[in-house]
Amino acid sequence: MIEIDGSAGEGGGQVLRSALALSLCTRQPVKLRGIRARRPRPGLMRQHLACVNAAMQVSGAKAWGAELGSCELVFEPGPVRPGDYSFSVGTAGSCCLVFQTVLPALMVASGPSRLLLGGGTHNPMAPPFHFVQRCFAPLLARLGVGIDLQLRRLGFHPAGGGVFAAEVAPPAAQLQPFDLDSRGPLLDTYVECFAPGLPARVVQRELDAIGAGLGLLADQLRAPAARSNEGPGNALLVTVLHEHVGEVVTAFGEKGVTSEAVAEVAISGVRAYMDSAGALGPHLADQWMLPLALAVSRTGTPASFTCTDLTLHATTNMGVIEAFLPVAFDAVQHGPASWQVSVSHRLLPGT
Ligand code: ATP
Repeated sequence: MIEIDGSAGEGGGQVLRSALALSLCTRQPVKLRGIRARRPRPGLMRQHLACVNAAMQVSGAKAWGAELGSCELVFEPGPVRPGDYSFSVGTAGSCCLVFQTVLPALMVASGPSRLLLGGGTHNPMAPPFHFVQRCFAPLLARLGVGIDLQLRRLGFHPAGGGVFAAEVAPPAAQLQPFDLDSRGPLLDTYVECFAPGLPARVVQRELDAIGAGLGLLADQLRAPAARSNEGPGNALLVTVLHEHVGEVVTAFGEKGVTSEAVAEVAISGVRAYMDSAGALGPHLADQWMLPLALAVSRTGTPASFTCTDLTLHATTNMGVIEAFLPVAFDAVQHGPASWQVSVSHRLLPGT
């Protein structure tokens, strides 16, 4: 059984989700200790339990310690069963993170799957739906995975109630790893302000502030009509599309924070990204490691990517991935905001 120390590195929920995803993909049982040990309220919270339950459902797994507050979990996966699933967090917790838990296993399963995911679709400290759709999914498509994501309803904290649908089809042959060392030419930049339940003037002030800060034209500033849950919410998204990769920078509005301050958070995120030559933004870098390593381990073909930052989430994820897969990561810094990460196949001891 693989043992994972949940307090290592970042010590948050990502260690749990990556371990579950890799346990499903490799069919290796895992024992996690110290789950989310570096968080103020350690252990499994509702949204993490939703990830465990989803991982159990897609594989008929057995689990011990799958309870609220639990800091230890033993997870024994069965064979992954592609099909139709509906997963709901039950709170405003991120359903995008539930999706990322089961997606790696479903994309190498024996057939296609259709999923309906419910919960928060745009949460602070988690990948927003549009990030998954515009940044993460296109990279999976380049690996050979058929993937289609449709937002049905926005879901914000604290009401939750968001829904999206996902279709996932494994590649006909093998996942095809590839290098992603440059972004390619800039194709498009646009801003969207989602603010259900808030006055139109809030939306306009955010768009005006970000448009002025980034020097954008009126047609790059949008307030899309989107169905949402009952509660208020506010996400300001900047989408920057290059030929080979996308980035979505998100800022969240909250009570007592001015529209200009929300815009400023997004502006500085976009500037940091544009000031670096790294292909992947900081969040995409930590999330891309798992599917890429899966492709490398299955084909033996090495691959690399460049990124703007090597966060603690990223280095922590490398450690979890190396515990499950016969791969080795190597990271080299090329400048203050530029890293190159390589993944190669490695023989496991005794093989
Ligand atoms: P915690 O254990 O902290 O309560 P958690 O389960 O949300 O939280 P983390 O370990 O912090 O887990 O992982 C959060 C994940 O969300 C990381 O993969 C990170 O890259 C991603 N993420 C956070 N913010 C964004 C963002 N704005 N855009 C895209 N991805 C994000």
